[in-house]
Amino acid sequence: MLVVEDLVVRYGRSPALRGVSFTVNEGEIVTIIGPNGAGKSTALKSIVGLVAPASGRIDFAGRSVVGLRTEALLRQGLSLVPEGRHIFTSLTVAENLRIGATARRDRRAARQDIADMLERFPALQRRVSSPAGKLSGGEQQQLAIARALIARPRMLMLDEPSLGLAPLIVEQIFDIIRELRAEGTTVLLVEQNAAKAVALADRAYVLQSGSVVIHGAASEILSSTEVIDSYFGGA
Ligand code: ATP
Repeated sequence: MLVVEDLVVRYGRSPALRGVSFTVNEGEIVTIIGPNGAGKSTALKSIVGLVAPASGRIDFAGRSVVGLRTEALLRQGLSLVPEGRHIFTSLTVAENLRIGATARRDRRAARQDIADMLERFPALQRRVSSPAGKLSGGEQQQLAIARALIARPRMLMLDEPSLGLAPLIVEQIFDIIRELRAEGTTVLLVEQNAAKAVALADRAYVLQSGSVVIHGAASEILSSTEVIDSYFGGA
């Protein structure tokens, strides 16, 4: 579904990605893990056109998406939940969800999806008229995911959804991702919480200093001593 090949991204002179390749197949959860500054966010930003690659290929559903704008990408079925959530804190929960529907042409169905989303996330339903800034971190993350889902993505990309959340809340967010996969949504998950991300994923790519150093089935990555030593604290 997504094919990224030999992706090179530079910020000024310094390379953030040095020829990175990865794929995401339909229905999979693929995770990209790696330390701070490895280039994980840059990989997602390139896919959604927030940074321009110096070279390389990014194909989604058989077509190049390089150079497409966010709205065009949404129409193709690519939706990103950015790091730090980027919800509109002074707008209400309902207004944030409506913003998620802006790329939808079928207004009536979009309204129904907002209602369904509120049913799915009872915490959001309870706070539907509150400014989003009043929500807890976990609720804000749910709102960011719900907003992305309103676009009915074929592939949902999440950038560090566990960042800054208490362990119990992280569990809830990961449960939501599990449910999405069960419903057939393809997921690309970028995480620093490597153990949790790999436990959830079908396949994993380990990024280090802008290069993929290891990739494979999540079960193999989990049993690889090299990865365990580097990323799971030798546990
Ligand atoms: P983090 O978990 O901290 O977000 P990451 O793996 O997502 O890390 P990136 O944010 O993609 O890493 O950053 C990769 C490299 O590019 C880092 O060295 C970072 O300092 C650099 N970088 C990221 N964004 C910019 C920018 N806008 N301008 C210049 N350098 C940047």
